[in-house]
Amino acid sequence: MSFSCIRLSKICFLLSVIVCVVLLLLIPRFQASWRSRSYPQPRLPLLLNVSSKNDTLLQVESSSTDRLDDETNNIVPLMKEDLVKQWNNYVIDTRRSKLKANDKMNGSPINQFNSMMEDHIEPTRVTAKEKLEQNDVFIAVKTTRKYHKTRLNLLFQTWISQAKELTFIFTDWEDGELRLRAGDRVINTNCSAVHTRQALCCKMSVEYDKFLESGRKWFCHVDDDNYVNVKNLLNLLSAFSHSQDVYIGRPSLDHPIEAADHVRNDGSATAKFWFATGGAGFCISRGLALKMSPWASLGSFISTAERIRLPDDCTIGYIIEGLLEVKLLHSPLFHSHLENLQRLHGDTVLKQITLSYGGPENKRNVVTVDEVFSVQQDPTRFKSVHCLLHPDTLWCPPLMVK
Ligand code: UDP
Ligand code: MN
Repeated sequence: MSFSCIRLSKICFLLSVIVCVVLLLLIPRFQASWRSRSYPQPRLPLLLNVSSKNDTLLQVESSSTDRLDDETNNIVPLMKEDLVKQWNNYVIDTRRSKLKANDKMNGSPINQFNSMMEDHIEPTRVTAKEKLEQNDVFIAVKTTRKYHKTRLNLLFQTWISQAKELTFIFTDWEDGELRLRAGDRVINTNCSAVHTRQALCCKMSVEYDKFLESGRKWFCHVDDDNYVNVKNLLNLLSAFSHSQDVYIGRPSLDHPIEAADHVRNDGSATAKFWFATGGAGFCISRGLALKMSPWASLGSFISTAERIRLPDDCTIGYIIEGLLEVKLLHSPLFHSHLENLQRLHGDTVLKQITLSYGGPENKRNVVTVDEVFSVQQDPTRFKSVHCLLHPDTLWCPPLMVK
């Protein structure tokens, strides 16, 4: 009797050990399947739109210098093999500047897009795709009195003419002509018309408040020397849900910035974070913008910027990455004149979301496109780009009309 009792308890013990081992082996599988079900994935048709004309994707990688410089940017063609992997390459600008595109496609290290999504997008939202209309997006164009006649006019002639619904002009002067042209789409911020950190943060603060007031789904900021390809922008944003935490743009540095911050919860004296450079434009979902409110709304943006003593675009990165711990999605489709823009050519130019051009000190830093207009007639190349994208525009050469 006692013998069989001992045997029985041995068998029970063995059985429970086996059950435990099986359970332990299954836990990672449960986790993996839960994750892949719960996190939203980008929409693939977007990729197809972007690469529809030929079977290559082009990507501009960031340089290893502090600001993206002329010689180190690379445009690397990728063959269309695996759509999901290509999407990763398409959206995310690698943080490792020297890595080749093919290295990124083979193997583990660069699947940043998925890992970023897992890092910061609410696990509960699975269906992240939404159709966007022009009036779902709020594009804030930052300008100043001295550029109304020059830079801003060029934008009205070109991309803003196709994007009246989306565009709001933030300036620092009441300009009768501009008011007639754009009505209440012009916001006089009453910030000072100087290029100082405080004045620029003042404008960003008003941009943010006006966006919240508008009730729109997406906030995008651009400078008055940016061309925005609205169709491509809407395509990109519609791959996400505006209620997710999305911050997307292009860093101008190849490393995170570190700011002195004495009020961190974890007791550290500095905050390390990535930020999207304002000169290339960036976008923020409404869901995330609402979470920024304690540090950004009704003038608090200015005090947040003062606290870290950094410019407006860095302050945005500080609030989002540093305080809210939401990761910047690095996109190679946004461009500022801190990069070598000459390396963008042909059809690739038309697939980007924003473009820019070099200032008077670097006039040759412009994208390379077909000669719709000569460089003398169209030094920024924006008119040529616009005619290639919208050939039926009245002032485009008749040959351009399909
Ligand atoms: N800007 C401004 N106030 C100024 C000077 C510039 O709001 O006193 C704006 C300008 O309209 C542009 C942005 O700041 O949208 C960046 O200016 P700019 O391109 O001249 O300088 P960058 O920083 O790109 O070299
Ligand atoms: Mn500029």
